[in-house]
Amino acid sequence: MSKTKMPASLPDPIINENAKIVLARRYQKKDAEGIVYETVKELFWRVASAIAAEEAKYDGSSCKPATLARDFYDLMTSYSFLPNSPTLMNAGTGLGQLAACFVLPVADSIEDIFDAVKHAAMIHKSGGGTGFSFSRLRAKDSVVGSTGGVASGPLSFLRIFNCATEQIKQGGTRRGANMGILRVDHPDIMEFIKAKERDGELNNFNLSIGLTEAFMRAVEKNEEFDLMAPNSGQVVEKLNAREVFNLLVQKAWESGDPGIVFLDRINRDNPTPALGEIESTNPCGEQPLLPYEACNLGSINLGKCYAKGKNGHDSEVNWDELRRIIHLSVRFLDNVIDASVYPLSEITEMVGKNRKIGLGVMGWADLLFQLDIAYNSQTAVDLAERVMKFMRDEARSASKQLAAERGPFPAYAESVFGKANLGPYRNATTTTIAPTGTLSIIGGCSSGVEPLFALSFVRNVMDNDKLVESNPFFETALKQADAYSPKLMEEIAKVGTIRKMEHLPHDLRRVYVTAMDIEPIWHLKMQAAFQKYTDNAVSKTVNLPGSATREDIWDIYWKAYEYGCKGVTVYRDGSKTSQVLCTGDGD
Ligand code: UDP
Repeated sequence: MSKTKMPASLPDPIINENAKIVLARRYQKKDAEGIVYETVKELFWRVASAIAAEEAKYDGSSCKPATLARDFYDLMTSYSFLPNSPTLMNAGTGLGQLAACFVLPVADSIEDIFDAVKHAAMIHKSGGGTGFSFSRLRAKDSVVGSTGGVASGPLSFLRIFNCATEQIKQGGTRRGANMGILRVDHPDIMEFIKAKERDGELNNFNLSIGLTEAFMRAVEKNEEFDLMAPNSGQVVEKLNAREVFNLLVQKAWESGDPGIVFLDRINRDNPTPALGEIESTNPCGEQPLLPYEACNLGSINLGKCYAKGKNGHDSEVNWDELRRIIHLSVRFLDNVIDASVYPLSEITEMVGKNRKIGLGVMGWADLLFQLDIAYNSQTAVDLAERVMKFMRDEARSASKQLAAERGPFPAYAESVFGKANLGPYRNATTTTIAPTGTLSIIGGCSSGVEPLFALSFVRNVMDNDKLVESNPFFETALKQADAYSPKLMEEIAKVGTIRKMEHLPHDLRRVYVTAMDIEPIWHLKMQAAFQKYTDNAVSKTVNLPGSATREDIWDIYWKAYEYGCKGVTVYRDGSKTSQVLCTGDGD
């Protein structure tokens, strides 16, 4: 595919200081000695021109590659939209692995298990994260037919995956992240729930328990539920559902692990049930996928979609600008699929059938700041629904337009959309809300749909670099209120929040809230509001103070179920010394 040459008049991008470090360390191309030889401008042009070049494939295209390359460049360098890290790292380099999310099957035989270990290694090497369901593996101590011995169970194999991951640094740039899921009705469930109770254990995995509605009903009624042998479906044991739920809550209280996912709900939203059942998500939980499926993500920076009202009043979301960005971003992400080269033919085939993309948002907290809306308010929750409904509707309309130009996703006829005569769409899913751990640093915005962790803080970027940072909207607001001083900023950096600073104006303290200032229920309400209009799932952590009780976590897990979330992750302040992925550490 021929790429458009960089125009001489192309403007230089403006890059924030943190982004400079992150981009140089992980995204700009380097020579054999590790010396960066690509400028940031060249980086963004490399990506823009490679993704736009795919346009030439389509006769019916309404866009010209050269014009589109410039549009994509402007889209990214205005930080209105950024594609997921593997696209930024690899597009146009000949590497071609551009997706962040993969799910691999783990079938119940030694050959299949070790195939999965190998395939995961190949994906990690190419910059993607992998999710697995271990639910098909026979229970520990059950018979192995071919040898007459006993099986060692899902957990023993999970340790092998963990160990393999440890050895393969992703593309030499970031370490592999994994999700491990076990259904709650697997005989080894109690051991799995406790798998990460020792600090540092399985540190390349996030673990989630796959909860079923049958199980949740048993918890509600305080009844027993069945554990079943995965290979025969035979009931091997009965457990009290509340005891299992209690253990789950206890372990999440101790360390944040495991999280939970609601498998039935995820499968109710499976757009192509004829192609199989969804058993796992990607590492951070936002992308449920079929076995061998991959998905590329991209995030719109909502902080850039703000319209100041006349005379400074009636500020609003800039809906026209948001619509423009959504349509361009959907085209971008659909082209990414064509530009991708996947490490396995099974993946190429699955992605080719469904063409899933995951367009999401970041900078949500920044938008709320600009609109003077507190994150922990019903106004914010209502706006979240409005914004995400708009995102979903416009993304689907963009996908429909692409289908008219390029044809629907090949599995469309057998999809829920095809059966209901909706569409046709170019993509089986269009929306996902990612954590945007690194993208938010590059974009200089708040991450995903999270509130700020701190208004001002010292950020550890990757290995050794320390950066002091405060939210730009907060700084401006302080200055406008005549409250800004370097001494005050120092004080705030120590605690992160202004909640207790009663000398500051009430309105500032109302709007500039941080994750820890917010009652857990607001975290959950926000997640549910975004989930309502998201095809895939929402990455969100319900942050809890160190003083939170087990009952608080029980309540959150239960409400996540009632509110229609697809899963939930909690984190109690101070309960873990290291995490698989920490916002901001760039891993
Ligand atoms: N991911 C990964 N390793 C990492 C960070 C992310 O494999 O160190 C994958 C994982 O599937 C995760 C997804 O990328 O769920 C999106 O994460 P995030 O939005 O934080 O990535 P970014 O594009 O900002 O780097």
